[in-house]
Amino acid sequence: MQTGWERLRGHREQIEMFRRSVSRGRLGQAYLLTGPEGVGKKKFASILAQCLFCQQHGRAHLEPCGTCHSCKQQAAGTHPDFSLVELLPGKNELLIEQFIGPQERRGKEGLCHDLSLKPMSANRRIAAIDDADKMNHAAANALLKTLEEPPHGSLLLLVASNADHLLPTIRSRCQEVRFGPLNSEDVAVLLVETGIAESAEDAAEIAAACDGSLAVATELADSELRAQRRALFDALAADPYYSVETAARVMSSIEAAGGDAAVQRRRAAWFIRFCLDFYREVLEHMSGVALQRDVNLSRADSLRSRFPAAEADAVEVVGSLIERVVVAQQHLDRRMSVGLCMESLFDDLGRMTRAACAV
Ligand SMILES: [Zn+2]
Repeated sequence: MQTGWERLRGHREQIEMFRRSVSRGRLGQAYLLTGPEGVGKKKFASILAQCLFCQQHGRAHLEPCGTCHSCKQQAAGTHPDFSLVELLPGKNELLIEQFIGPQERRGKEGLCHDLSLKPMSANRRIAAIDDADKMNHAAANALLKTLEEPPHGSLLLLVASNADHLLPTIRSRCQEVRFGPLNSEDVAVLLVETGIAESAEDAAEIAAACDGSLAVATELADSELRAQRRALFDALAADPYYSVETAARVMSSIEAAGGDAAVQRRRAAWFIRFCLDFYREVLEHMSGVALQRDVNLSRADSLRSRFPAAEADAVEVVGSLIERVVVAQQHLDRRMSVGLCMESLFDDLGRMTRAACAV
């Protein structure tokens, strides 16, 4: 069984950074772990705590033994000196009672209270806040008091995908540690290990399309969604380009996702993402960048051959197609009707592609 850091793929630099801080006795009291969703930030926080709690290995080692009582407790999520706050089921924000207790027990429960207690078995208390960017205002202000005067020896780990959504006063009191996307080999291995992908081939296809996020990869494990992605790629590369048919096919897939408006918007967002993936592939193919994604060379070639011969002109055309897709994303975010958003997108992409090919 894997113990410690090998449970985590990638992020070696971040591990080394903490290792250096601990070995020099310079571990801070509050860190903000930021970066894309689904790359392992929360798991990182939990393993870091395990390292610091481990009774067997010296802390400077920053590698848990995996066998001592503390290591086992932390791995099982039952270490008495570790507190975790995360979104409660059905909630989309972190609430003040999770930090300082419910109204009738204010200041007697919650993460801020727990952190102020003496450690039970380790030599420090550690708290992690997942989705810290989803704290509501009251919760953020409650946490701010703890950040201003952190209890002696405590360690607070905030995990956030959108650090910009945090109060500046909170952000400025944390040391920020940035996490990048996972590379596609790591994602593929994780998908097979966790059983999310059914085969190595599926894992490779998903990994190539998920931008290094396991969260995105998990959604792309839906084979129907991936089939839609392939069909859209073919439609975008088709010659001649039939925008009406493409829009109709996309809309019927969106409607097939169910009657719920939020589900339909989510499906529409996927199609917009797939368009971006497609044009980015074409762009990378043109500029000869090492191709990391699932580039279908003949597809990219067939599209390239229809664009202006001059490299710079062709790049400009694809750049403007990408810009148009980004606008569709903004339309969707601003609650434009899904049908209108998709129809106008594919209509414009068709018009722009035909105009460029006619040159
Ligand atoms: Zn241990």
